Amino acid sequence: MEKENKLPQQLTAAELAEWQRRLAEANRNNVLCHCRQCDDEWVTSGREACHRCGSLDVEAIACWQFPDG
Ligand SMILES: [Zn+2]
Repeated sequence: MEKENKLPQQLTAAELAEWQRRLAEANRNNVLCHCRQCDDEWVTSGREACHRCGSLDVEAIACWQFPDG
């Protein structure tokens, strides 16, 4: 297994910085997708099937729904 992308329960400073970097990336791509099957996350311009496992059970979160951190 190479890596796991899971939403952290508690953020360290480094994790928070990484999360904010990913939010900035999401802002450019508009939508953060989260797969409920394999917990993978990616950013895109719209809802789509999971890149990792192909599941359609994907949560698409528009960037403007995130609070400013
Ligand atoms: Zn998946």
